[in-house]
Amino acid sequence: MLDELLKEHPELKKVYDLTITHTRYRKKETINLIASENVMSPLAMLLYLNDMMHRYAEGKPFKRFYQGLKYVDELEVEASRLMGELLKTQFVDLRPISGTTANAAAFRAFTAPGDKAVVAPVQAGAHVSHTRFGTLGALGIEQIEMPFSIEEWNIDVDKAVKLIENVKPKIVTLGGSLYIFPHPTKPIAEAAHSVGAKVIHDVAHVLGLIVGGVWPNPLLEGADVITSSTHKTFPGPQGGLFATRLEEDYKEIGKVIFPMFVSNHHLHRLAATAVTAIEMKLFGREYAEQVVRNARKLAEALAARGVKVVMEEKGFTQSHQVVLDVSNLGRGTRVALQLEEANIIVNKNMLPWDRPEDVKDPSGIRIGVQEVTRWGMKEGEMEVIADLIKEVIIDKKEPSEVKKKVIEFRKEFTEVHYCLKISREDEIRLLNLMLHPG
Ligand SMILES: *Cc1c(COP(=O)(O)O)cnc(C)c1O
Repeated sequence: MLDELLKEHPELKKVYDLTITHTRYRKKETINLIASENVMSPLAMLLYLNDMMHRYAEGKPFKRFYQGLKYVDELEVEASRLMGELLKTQFVDLRPISGTTANAAAFRAFTAPGDKAVVAPVQAGAHVSHTRFGTLGALGIEQIEMPFSIEEWNIDVDKAVKLIENVKPKIVTLGGSLYIFPHPTKPIAEAAHSVGAKVIHDVAHVLGLIVGGVWPNPLLEGADVITSSTHKTFPGPQGGLFATRLEEDYKEIGKVIFPMFVSNHHLHRLAATAVTAIEMKLFGREYAEQVVRNARKLAEALAARGVKVVMEEKGFTQSHQVVLDVSNLGRGTRVALQLEEANIIVNKNMLPWDRPEDVKDPSGIRIGVQEVTRWGMKEGEMEVIADLIKEVIIDKKEPSEVKKKVIEFRKEFTEVHYCLKISREDEIRLLNLMLHPG
């Protein structure tokens, strides 16, 4: 029947083909090293396909503006509780539909237009939402950057403390998208609190590492708020959250997220987020430890093959990320495109020494190993990936030849690990339940 429909409706065939081809390409035929992505478990994906995708729930659980939500209310409370258990706080709100939305709500809760924010420097990987070009700018908040220490590849703590004491901002933000060493929450929080500022630590990239116990939890180190995406190292559906230490901050941001930044908050992701949280409770530590081991291994293996990997002197990385300086290999844009031709997917990235005008062709490449880890790859496979990358960017082999090897290599890694296993029959049963509940 479907085959006939596709023949009859060429527009449908186009949509269908693009969707199926993309899914095969990115899930089976490429080595995905984008640091901000991941794959959900089959169980989380199947529960994601639920009817809640059609529904509206404005407001907080059990205090909604619409009817028909008794199960949504319970599910939202349970998903938040599970995330709170992982983050060691009772105060988690899953209504932000993305990390950026979570930032918007947290920033707005503690500032008014014209106020000042002291933020982690863009050189330290701060996200565009922390800048005048992004959410901070949209809210009319002045962006003042902390100084960066290139030797430490981190915020320069002494100078940052002085800056905070002088500027007396309303908020201080930490965290970033190019994030290989933890930002110093404790001393920054002490300085911030001494001038009455709130500390918002954006953990979008490292949420999965925090709940896996291999990266410091900023809420235990003095941050007032964490904001996050739920789909980077934490392998849930695309979405966001904020979590706080204190109930009053939780309520304050809760009053902002709705009605200012979401109305409907994409309810179908709650079930998938909850399943992912349960899986992280069970397998999170094992997963997170392997992620960091893989990142270190890949960094070492690339360095041993002549690729310039940053911060060898500090062990390359403490996160899922590996940062390459490809200024001597044709720069970021070309290298990223060459690797794409070989089905190795990375992104170009600004490095601390790049000038603003380098944004279109920066000198860096950012790699993340969280997704290949989920596909079951370990240290041995990091050596293989390093070989494949080297063949493209150093040996200058024909990318289409390397691509054949990549596709062969991926054939052994087709199952998501660190999750609850279900059978093929269960998968069909769940799909059927979503389409024809009975
Ligand atoms: C990815 C990222 C975000 C934005 O997350 P979205 O969920 O895409 O909105 C915010 N902050 C940091 C540090 C990020 O890396």
